[in-house]
Amino acid sequence: MGITLEKTHYQLLINGEGVDSASGQSFETHNPATNEALASVAKATPEDVDKAVAAAREAFSGAWARISAAKRTGLLFKLAGLLRERFEALARLESLNNGKAITSVKGELNQAIEELEFYAGAANKIMGSTVPVPYGFLNYTLREPIGVCALIVPWNYPILLALRKLAPALAAGNTVVLKPASATPLTALTIGEWCLEAGLPPGTVNVITGPGVEIGSYLVKHPGVDKISFTGETSTGKEIMRMAADSIKRLSLELGGKSPNIVFEDADLEAAAAGSVWAIFYSAGQSCEARSRLFVQDSIYDRFVSLFVEKAKKLRVGDPLDPETHVGALISPAQVQRVESYVQAGLSAGGRVLCGGGRPPEPSLARGNFYLPTALAIEDHRAKVTQEEIFGPVVTILRFKSEAEVVALANDVIYGLVATLWTQDVGRAHRVAGQIRSGVVTINTPFTVFPGLPFGGYKQSGFDREVALEALHSYTELKSVLVFVREKPLNPFGI
Ligand code: NAD
Repeated sequence: MGITLEKTHYQLLINGEGVDSASGQSFETHNPATNEALASVAKATPEDVDKAVAAAREAFSGAWARISAAKRTGLLFKLAGLLRERFEALARLESLNNGKAITSVKGELNQAIEELEFYAGAANKIMGSTVPVPYGFLNYTLREPIGVCALIVPWNYPILLALRKLAPALAAGNTVVLKPASATPLTALTIGEWCLEAGLPPGTVNVITGPGVEIGSYLVKHPGVDKISFTGETSTGKEIMRMAADSIKRLSLELGGKSPNIVFEDADLEAAAAGSVWAIFYSAGQSCEARSRLFVQDSIYDRFVSLFVEKAKKLRVGDPLDPETHVGALISPAQVQRVESYVQAGLSAGGRVLCGGGRPPEPSLARGNFYLPTALAIEDHRAKVTQEEIFGPVVTILRFKSEAEVVALANDVIYGLVATLWTQDVGRAHRVAGQIRSGVVTINTPFTVFPGLPFGGYKQSGFDREVALEALHSYTELKSVLVFVREKPLNPFGI
């Protein structure tokens, strides 16, 4: 798994140019499968953030503003074309920097391109409306871009989440400063360069890299930034909300989850087991939508759990670049330790390991951040392991008796991102879907999102929606224009 990249130093992208940090400092980014350094990356300072925001402001009222919506459509399709042409190389870079199985990365890259194309096609369809107002008046609305958008993304889906924000922000006519996570900056920096190649004017897309608590928060507080779109941990989202309050910045938050996966006794157990394994172990469980709480109805509990465990044991954990691998590496040694401590907490709370529960035994994987797909049978739904987001390949399995009981348990967390139901009873499926407090409910499928489908959270999983047309609107301000059109002039005070 020892890898050398062609390019071993990555610079910031500011005003269309690759530049080193004003301090000259860099940091290393690693391959999670081996923990070897992959490349050095410029570590931005507040001075660099000032320059990136200034460039975005200049482009917003300058070169980018002069480009029509129809032309924006063309440029975004051109970018999508470049991503398709360079698909294999980009997927490899993402897998190397993130540790995720290459087949998963390819699926995500494909989804990201389709979402980009969705917004490319929508860029010239952002319309206002006319509103019936009293005789003598005319009212119409305009949807205008907000300005400079700070897009802050985490490390678990680096390409997908960067493009999920870039595409609607640009389609709506905004300019952006993108900040990827320090663990996975390489693909965002690469896509930033390709935006220029696609013909986006310099300054339209700027990419800065460095520690979130330093330059991320500086960017959030920056007076030159009009909107923040953030994806990451709920605790960071709370901090960002506080920081954004001073200047009343527009805000979209996509935060954490602890999503339920409910298997009713009338489900197709074979399909439910296969889907449930995917729903938690995809992306090694490092997914906001990971269905990490599996609820199984009493009467089928033993049969279903043994099917689930049998399938989980078949997952191949290993080299992320091997197309046969299902589960790659976790992002860092610290993440593995975090997972270990949650499993330990689960055992202390009376949990029982049904599979996994440790690192894989193969010596070839010892240097990387691997952890086996783990299932923990537990009874206490208030335990730390069943309430907090683990962000690793660990599922807790709980037993339930009735529909009402499982709805109450499913809703008994601070999060509300996704829920999955397995049942062949149509009435039950829709009845329960209506009672679950989450932004997405999926029935008889582990998949959660396609281009156009609104994705986002209830409760502390955040607010606003991505992927859909609603996201395009969230990158606009709605202006109402009221016109007096009577011949006789208006004199409201009669003076
Ligand atoms: P994180 O909150 O630690 O970091 C996310 C980004 O914010 C990074 O770029 C980081 O550098 C930056 N950041 C950190 N502190 C900051 C601060 N004080 N000010 C400004 N920026 C700051 O999250 P993570 O560990 O990278 O990602 C995992 C989290 O993301 C999980 O909680 C997961 O559920 C969530 N997530 C949510 C969704 C969704 O759509 N709801 C999707 C993917 C991931």
